[in-house]
Amino acid sequence: MYTIQSLDLHFQKEAHTIASFLVSDHEHRLLVETGPESTWLQLVEQLQSHDLRPGDIDAVLLTHIHFDHAGAAWKFAEAGARIYVHPLGLPHLENPEKLWQSAARIYGKDNMLQLWGTMKPIDPEQLVPTRDMEAIFFGNMTFVPVHTPGHAIHHVAWKLDHNVFTGDVAGVAIQGGPVVPPCPPPDIHLEHWKASIAKIRALAPETLYLTHYGSVTAIGKHFQALEKTMEDWAAWMKIEFDAGTAPEVITEKFMAYTEQQLANQGVDRSLRERYELANPSWMSVSGLLRYWKLKESGKI
Ligand SMILES: [Zn+2]
Repeated sequence: MYTIQSLDLHFQKEAHTIASFLVSDHEHRLLVETGPESTWLQLVEQLQSHDLRPGDIDAVLLTHIHFDHAGAAWKFAEAGARIYVHPLGLPHLENPEKLWQSAARIYGKDNMLQLWGTMKPIDPEQLVPTRDMEAIFFGNMTFVPVHTPGHAIHHVAWKLDHNVFTGDVAGVAIQGGPVVPPCPPPDIHLEHWKASIAKIRALAPETLYLTHYGSVTAIGKHFQALEKTMEDWAAWMKIEFDAGTAPEVITEKFMAYTEQQLANQGVDRSLRERYELANPSWMSVSGLLRYWKLKESGKI
């Protein structure tokens, strides 16, 4: 039998914002997600508390290549692990320059190191592309990559028996707080996202493991709430998009709107700050505006 451990990466020194999951049995040790390279030392420490070193990890299963999920994958590749990733994400790990540049445009070049650390290319021999629903076996553990676009076109949820590691496709929910949809550019696609939710629900999982943050067992309720907020945010954004409001004005209004929404659901200030770290609301503004723009021009 295997065990699943949540490793808290203490992103930006805050608890329960980004997780990596250690899945191990007597034979294999795998990580689902690595977090960013900026939390590498924290991850090494967490592994040490399980008597493991980075070189003991056989494989890393990535949900997608955004830095908060995959930024430290190259460190495990250097230590010998194979890295499993969606075929559309794979080239960006082999050659991360473009990914880095586009993140730098979003976050600002000067903030990159402090937020995400560094990223180096991964040897293509160690990168393994996933195929939708095609199981990968590690001894007695059977992982099924479930291709789940919507948050990112190259998103994979990982099924292990009745557990699903959902990356960002099941949203962000911290410490029993409400679930919200992270909507960064450039791939947000609400119809695809809802189809991905239906795909996961059809697997009848008993536990979801959210990278931001931890396990969820009230699955029907969780996904219902996620879809509701997704629709609410998208509709809110559509009104501003149609009105042609300036993006910086939208951002200010949206930050106030979503903060109030969390407060109304009983989320206190310190937890609201952690939601903002795991899922900055300004990022969802650009992601959702881009979605409506592409939709209007008939490109999606
Ligand atoms: Zn994320």
